[in-house]
Amino acid sequence: MVGVLALQGNFASHIHILNKIDIESRLVKSVEDLSGLEGLILPGGESTTMSNLLLRDQNFIDRIKLFSDNKPILGTCAGLILMAKNSFDKKVLNMNIIDIEVNRNAYGRQVHSFDDSISVEYKNNEPLSIRASFIRAPKITNIGEDVEILCKYNSEIVGVKKGMHMAVTCHPELQDEVLLHKLCFKS
Ligand code: GLN
Repeated sequence: MVGVLALQGNFASHIHILNKIDIESRLVKSVEDLSGLEGLILPGGESTTMSNLLLRDQNFIDRIKLFSDNKPILGTCAGLILMAKNSFDKKVLNMNIIDIEVNRNAYGRQVHSFDDSISVEYKNNEPLSIRASFIRAPKITNIGEDVEILCKYNSEIVGVKKGMHMAVTCHPELQDEVLLHKLCFKS
């Protein structure tokens, strides 16, 4: 069973994708909901709001970090920001699950949001093209040595992999794409 953090944001679209690939899912609203999960998704939304809600319970944050020691976490957009080492914004909680630095809202305002194809370069496989929505998306400005490139948009790095964890700056789940969920939780 894979959990989807459901404090705020587009958690429902991740539940839909997990259903599509026959993975049982559970909404995660508090620390108790983490027990027994095989993986966790941190969805998109508003990273400042999610940070505020998470910071009400330091134990919840600690347990998510502990969870990441053994189980895969997939983050999309605001989820990637929460997983990053630094987003240079005091209003945002960075859990440092993946050694990346990010710049929030780097493509501009809501009107500059767009859908396009990105390439997924998984291990030594041929790059695969999937659709994704960029909605007030962040940009990855720096990646640590042990972080692999997972997705590119033109020449930009828009997805990363660190061990079993994956994070993307955009939303493949809003385009009904299942590939990343399969790679993260089924392979
Ligand atoms: N702009 C949002 C943030 O910085 C992220 C947007 C999203 O998740 N689609 O939190």
